[in-house]
Amino acid sequence: MGKNAICSLKCADGSARRGEITVAHGTFQTPAFMPVGTAGPVKALTCEQLEECGVEIVLSNSYHLYLRPGHDVIKNQGGLAAFTGWNKPTLTDSGGYQVFSLKDISKVSDDGVEFQSHIDGSRHLFTPERVMDIQRAIGADIIMIFDQCVAYPADEQTAAEAVHRTYEWARRCQCRFAELAALDNAIGQHLFGIVQGSTYKNLRSQSAEQIVALDFDGNAIGGLSVGESKAEMEDILAHTIELLPADKPRYLMGVGYPEDILMAVSYGVDMFDCVLPTRNARTGMVFTSTGPLVYRNAEFANDSRPLDESCDCAVCRRYSRAYLRHLFNQSEITGLILATYHSVWFYQQLMRDIRQAIEERRFEDFRREFLSRYQQV
Ligand SMILES: [Zn+2]
Repeated sequence: MGKNAICSLKCADGSARRGEITVAHGTFQTPAFMPVGTAGPVKALTCEQLEECGVEIVLSNSYHLYLRPGHDVIKNQGGLAAFTGWNKPTLTDSGGYQVFSLKDISKVSDDGVEFQSHIDGSRHLFTPERVMDIQRAIGADIIMIFDQCVAYPADEQTAAEAVHRTYEWARRCQCRFAELAALDNAIGQHLFGIVQGSTYKNLRSQSAEQIVALDFDGNAIGGLSVGESKAEMEDILAHTIELLPADKPRYLMGVGYPEDILMAVSYGVDMFDCVLPTRNARTGMVFTSTGPLVYRNAEFANDSRPLDESCDCAVCRRYSRAYLRHLFNQSEITGLILATYHSVWFYQQLMRDIRQAIEERRFEDFRREFLSRYQQV
C-alpha cells in the first residue's frame, strides 16, 4: 500500500470486504454506515447516545455548516470534533450535492457554482478552492472533492460535461489541499475523489480512470440513488466499483435502504451514508427487522409491542408502539429522540451483522435470511 494508506482489509467473502479505516480521530470498522449530522449533530441524539448505538463515524454537510454557524466559528472552536463533542472520526461532504439541488437559485460555470442561501437568499460562490478552504476550517477527518452531480435522468451530453468538470475541479481541489496541508499539516485530513457519469457506463469508466489517476486517499461513487431504478443502480455500481483500487476505501454516497446496502456490500463497498433512518424516524417511520414500520399510523394506537420485536436497543426494551405513536401525535420531542435512537441502532446493528457474516464467510446466506424476514410485511 502507498504511504497514504488508511484502510486495512481483514478478510473478504466473495467481493464483500471486511476491514478498518484509521484517521486522526480514531479507527472505524468497515463496512460502515455514517448517520448524517446535517449541521453538526445527528438531530435528536447526543454524542453519548450515538456511542451507545455503536456509531463510529458521523457525516456532516459543509453547505449547512458554512451557512450556520459558519466555518470560521467551527475553526475558532478547535474544529468539528471539539465544537460538537464528537471526538471520533468525521467526514464532511463538499456541499456540491446541496448547491446543485438548489437548481433554480444556482448558476454553474467552469469556475464554480454561484448560489443563493436557502435561509436568507444571500449570494455565495463555491469554487473548488473555496470548498477546500471551508472543509479545512471545519476540520473533519475525511473531506470530499467538489464535484458536479447531475439530476436523473440526464442526457449524455450533460452527464459528459459534468464528468469533465468534476475532473477539472478534482485537480484544483487536490492542488489547494496540498497548499493547505503544507501550511499546517497538523490536522491530518484525508481527501477522497468522487466518480460521476450518471447512468452511462462509458462515462463512469472515463470518470473512474481520471479520478483514480489522481491517487486520492479513497474513492467515492456519486450520482447514484438519485431517482434511477434499483436495477440500474446495481448495474452502474457493479461496473464502476471494478475500476476502483482495492487497497483504498470505496464509498457509495447517499445510499440507502437496507436492501441497497446489502447489495452494495456484496460488490465491495466499504462506506455508506444516508439521511433515511434519521429523517424518516422524525416523520413517523422506522426501519425494523421485518421491514419499514409507519409507527404514526392509527393501527398502532393500542399496540403494546416494541417497534421491533427482535431489536435489543434501549427503546425497544422499554417502550411500546402505542406510546411512540402517542408521542408523535402530540409532537413531543421525546418521540423524535426515541424513534431516531431505534433507527440509528438498527442501521448500526445491520452493519455489525454484515461485518460478522463476512468474517464467518456467510455473507450471502445472511443477506438472503435478512431479506426474507425484512420483506415479510
Ligand atoms: Zn430498537
